[in-house]
Amino acid sequence: MDSKIRIVPVNAVDGAFLDRLSLCVEERFLARAVVERSLALSRSALNATRGQLFVSTLTSKATQAHPDRDGTLLVLTDFDLYKTSHRFVFGDADETQSVASVSLHRLRPEFYGEERDPNVLFQRTLKECVHELGHLFGLRHCVNPRCGMYYSNSIFETDNKTSYFCETCDRRVGRARR
Ligand SMILES: [Zn+2]
Ligand SMILES: [Zn+2]
Repeated sequence: MDSKIRIVPVNAVDGAFLDRLSLCVEERFLARAVVERSLALSRSALNATRGQLFVSTLTSKATQAHPDRDGTLLVLTDFDLYKTSHRFVFGDADETQSVASVSLHRLRPEFYGEERDPNVLFQRTLKECVHELGHLFGLRHCVNPRCGMYYSNSIFETDNKTSYFCETCDRRVGRARR
């Protein structure tokens, strides 16, 4: 796999936030990360009944905007994401298209009635990005609740895990890189 990670923001995502994120994923995956131009997506792309964005819709919009298939796409959106089997997802990874998607919607403290906190939002986003990219770099879910590959179903589990891989996963991702 090409180890370039291309971060694609949907609509407006803070530039400093994206720069910080790209440095962190570079460090985790020893890959080059670049921030691409943003992908414009209006609310008409949402499922009207659910008010949420179907992950596959986002994946196909992103691959249409970047058809060259050069590297891995990491798509970041404020829209709430869902899959057929899930009421919502923090993120998803499409291994065949090599597209990872992460939604900031449920990572914001405000979503849970708490104070806005850019640092908390950043850490949560980083963990979910590391997780979804981990899948694209060949990793599966891990049973270690501190490992970035732990599957989180709630924000508590996201907060409890780290944005790093455990030793086992780190060895595996290391092999995938070579
Ligand atoms: Zn996962
Ligand atoms: Zn692990």
